[in-house]
Amino acid sequence: MNKIQMTTPLVEIDGDEMTRILWKMIKDELLLPFIDLNTEYYDLGLPYRDETDDQVTIDASNAIKKYGVGVKCATITPNEARRKEYNLKALYKSPNGTIRAILDGTVFRAPILVKGIEPVVSRWEQPITIARHAYGDVYKNTEFRVPGKGTAKLVFEAEDGTVNEQTIFSFEGPGVLQGMYNLDHSIESFARSCFQYALGVKQDLWFASKDTISKVYDGQFKEIFQNIYDNEFKAAFEEVGITYFYTLIDDAIARIMKSKGGIVWACKNYDGDVFSDMLSSAFGSLAMMTSVLVSPDGYYEYEAAHGTVQRHYYKHLAGEETSTNSVATIFAWTGALRKRGELDGNTALQEFADKLEKATLDTIESGVMTKDLVQITTLPNPKAVNSLEFIQAVRATLEASL
Ligand code: NAP
Ligand code: MG
Repeated sequence: MNKIQMTTPLVEIDGDEMTRILWKMIKDELLLPFIDLNTEYYDLGLPYRDETDDQVTIDASNAIKKYGVGVKCATITPNEARRKEYNLKALYKSPNGTIRAILDGTVFRAPILVKGIEPVVSRWEQPITIARHAYGDVYKNTEFRVPGKGTAKLVFEAEDGTVNEQTIFSFEGPGVLQGMYNLDHSIESFARSCFQYALGVKQDLWFASKDTISKVYDGQFKEIFQNIYDNEFKAAFEEVGITYFYTLIDDAIARIMKSKGGIVWACKNYDGDVFSDMLSSAFGSLAMMTSVLVSPDGYYEYEAAHGTVQRHYYKHLAGEETSTNSVATIFAWTGALRKRGELDGNTALQEFADKLEKATLDTIESGVMTKDLVQITTLPNPKAVNSLEFIQAVRATLEASL
């Protein structure tokens, strides 16, 4: 069989623990036999990040800027326990945070739907993708406890010395006080990433905030989205036949519950934090969530939403059998290969991505799945397999379809 050729490299970002084990299995069983894989490899496994003082993370991010598309394995964000475990020189920042800062991107999370793993909300027939504005608001707040009687003021001193001062509240007794901010530039990048992504997946985009109450702050978010839509994306949206829709956050929740799915839902930072957890558990399993970082300039980085599955890795190291779900990591690869194919006009690569996704879902629908899915499936008599057996079963289904 002739292997599929690739014209432009894909940025391959390896990672840690159990997902690093799955990464190699996926390449060996599902990619290398079928594709003449052209990747530029960056090892973000913690030992090599430490060896390079984390320079490798910066290099990988710049490579995504150069080639446009990357695929990333889950990585450890070190804490004190990890510093000891890996004898690290420093407590490195979250690789995802570093990559996001360099690409100025927004993370989109979408569930993988498969028969037999049913969403809690039975109306949801298609995935709901959530985009969280991961900058500012309450996550960058300044807050303190008000000890007692006194006046709280909001003061802004401009560079030219002009002062804008308003009274927030005159306290008669103790309470709490908080200040927060956001930046036009960050909101604009977020809006552009959302419009780009919605166009890419050809789904309607919803954005919601509370501008009836927060007229200036949330009002600014609403206005920026509307201006960017009108001036930069309206024509393209109309051509593809999708819409941009703004509503109040409470109305959005009511509508989401009644929708059939198939929507990209843009959320402010706090809303996105809360509702992404609601959606991932309502759709069934964290192991079935994909994640893609989209920059306003149109660079893409695909990964699984879950972490490195540390507990399974220690079982694996102890020589025990694991049954770790590789579906989201397989879909990270298919997402990246499909995007690479789209950008390069490489239809063979795009078709391969479609076939590998279908083979993965068909395998689960035939009743063969990892233990985490066996626990929640509605299919009768599911067969629990180990990590490698699942990937080999997908390969057999894939080979039969080629
Ligand atoms: P995790 O790796 O997502 O795993 C938490 C638990 O969820 C697992 O112990 C397992 O439950 C279940 N699970 C998650 N993914 C699964 C899969 N593919 N198949 C089967 N079960 C799965 O989260 P964590 O243990 O909190 O974090 C481990 C490391 O990952 C941390 O060092 C963290 O920094 C890192 N992390 C990285 C990313 C990223 O790179 N994007 C994201 C999150 C966390 P059972 O043990 O009950 O089977
Ligand atoms: Mg959360």
